[in-house]
Amino acid sequence: MSGRAKNILVVEDEPKILEGLRDALEFQGFEVQIATRGDEALSIALTQHPDLILLDIMLPKLSGLDVCENLRRSGIKAPIIFLTAKGGESDRIQGLELGADDYITKPFSIKELIARINAHLRRRELDALEAMTDGRKDTVFHVHQLTVDFAARSCWLSGEVLHLSEKEFLILKILLENIGRVVDRETLLREVWGYQNIDLETRTVDVTIGKLRQKIENDPVSPQIIKTKRGKGYIIEGTM
Ligand code: CA
Repeated sequence: MSGRAKNILVVEDEPKILEGLRDALEFQGFEVQIATRGDEALSIALTQHPDLILLDIMLPKLSGLDVCENLRRSGIKAPIIFLTAKGGESDRIQGLELGADDYITKPFSIKELIARINAHLRRRELDALEAMTDGRKDTVFHVHQLTVDFAARSCWLSGEVLHLSEKEFLILKILLENIGRVVDRETLLREVWGYQNIDLETRTVDVTIGKLRQKIENDPVSPQIIKTKRGKGYIIEGTM
């Protein structure tokens, strides 16, 4: 995933579990905040807006169920995953009814927990993106992890806003309008830079595409979105 590290609030009153979770999540590149009481969890979540909350149910002061209900009532939309004890079926059902997104039963596999966290974070990003671009579907294009909205002149990578220069955005637009076809450097120089007398030795196009790739490609060295056709130009493969 691109952009800033995701922030996860872990709420658990069992020190060993809390430590284990913190280490595992930090190792995965998440920023971790912790709380050991329900009231503490509530105030952190309301003021710090974590991207996701791992919430134990049996907690001092305020139960996880109360925390969840309170957060949803306060309009907090971050995914909530309950950490529940084995056999706590009624807690789990109540948790889901109160607005939790998922639960995982202790003892759990860290691998599975991480997979679920990533799935919920990704879904949340896509929901947010959809809400943002709703009603302008005809101007929105998706290529790999990239979403481009021509009308809003905006661009997202895996749901994170990208800041493109005017020229970078224009190049992307022209390549997308010609999706599946190679666009030569001459055309790009004319359309993007307005060059009339074209010096084909110029590296301007390649340099700008290089910068664009740094922003939109997971691996700019072997680009998946904008591909080079040697001696011909550039292409975004696919169909409209
Ligand atoms: Ca507990």
